[in-house]
Amino acid sequence: MNPNAHAGDAAAPLPALGDGVRTVRGARMAEVTTFRLGGPCRALVDCPDAASLTRAVDALRSARIPILLVGGGSNLLVSDEGVDTVVVRHVTDAPAFRRDGEEIVAPAAAALDTLADYAVSEGLDGLLFASGIPGTVGGAVAGNAGAFGEDVAGRMVSVTVLDVDGRVREEDPSRFRFAYRHSEIPEQRAIVLETRFRLARGDPAALHAERDRILEMRASKHPDWRRRPTAGSFFRNIEPTSAAGRRQAAGWFLEQAGALHMREGGASVFDRHANIVVADGPDCTAADVDRLTRRMAEAVRAMFDLSLVPEVRRIGRFA
Ligand SMILES: Cc1cc2nc3c(=O)[nH]c(=O)nc-3n(C[C@H](O)[C@H](O)[C@H](O)COP(=O)(O)OP(=O)(O)OC[C@H]3O[C@@H](n4cnc5c(N)ncnc54)[C@H](O)[C@@H]3O)c2cc1C
Repeated sequence: MNPNAHAGDAAAPLPALGDGVRTVRGARMAEVTTFRLGGPCRALVDCPDAASLTRAVDALRSARIPILLVGGGSNLLVSDEGVDTVVVRHVTDAPAFRRDGEEIVAPAAAALDTLADYAVSEGLDGLLFASGIPGTVGGAVAGNAGAFGEDVAGRMVSVTVLDVDGRVREEDPSRFRFAYRHSEIPEQRAIVLETRFRLARGDPAALHAERDRILEMRASKHPDWRRRPTAGSFFRNIEPTSAAGRRQAAGWFLEQAGALHMREGGASVFDRHANIVVADGPDCTAADVDRLTRRMAEAVRAMFDLSLVPEVRRIGRFA
């Protein structure tokens, strides 16, 4: 590595990253996030399969170049300044799922919704809740994505990761302490390569009908992220206050606190869901979303003395 190069030196050369990788210099984070926001990164490295991802990450780590791993970019708010790192994106639109009895092994680069669709087409029940959730299997596992009281951890048998020491290991999920919208995968700097899910046989016609119902319901409640930039629910739901209690929707508190009509610059609260911010105003910036979401949290704190915790990960510097 050039001894004069440092992590933030955008012009510094990258090591050879191996076959199957596409590198884009001068890419912007707006191109890889569903919020369509965020400034430049040092380079974007696209790795569509586990082999190319492993080679590229090994080479970058050996050269001590910091990386930011992204899947579908559907849970990220990246600052307008961008990031100093190389962004490694692990996404494919041609995933090879493997069925093994009532289990499915899914590559991390697959879209989560494509996995949900595959399970239904195989007559397997257990991932219907994932229908319509954007992003990849890897991103869903890292953040334990879920809906309707279910989550991906509830169906996992094992997770194969590239660990921080460069070893590929099949791990028991307990190693990553899965909890509500949380796992220790990011802190352990593990990279998900594939995940084995245990499902159950179901009635194919009933599974198809239920998937259609969920997709219709989501379409009526959520903005279409392909047309209206968003990262879905911005804040986590509120932890129960007693063992018997249930998690309460952050959206309810936000609505009571008047969030539905809030706007900052080009960012506004979605008019059908007070916990969703859309960034479709002209010239919307990440700073607009940052200011708006801080105002939303402040309104809930003032009215209920409750601290909302973001579900969306902020990356980079914000004022
Ligand atoms: C319209 C809309 C609706 C949504 N609805 C839901 C919902 O119902 N339930 C829900 O839980 N979420 C929901 N989300 C949020 C988001 O889709 C999920 O959190 C999703 O699982 C994120 O996956 P991703 O691939 O986009 O991750 P990214 O946003 O790319 O990354 C998120 C984190 O995961 C890490 N990561 C990504 N890939 C890997 C990998 N292979 N290995 C290790 N770490 C990795 C990243 O480093 C980052 O820390 C919604 C988002 C939108 C836009």
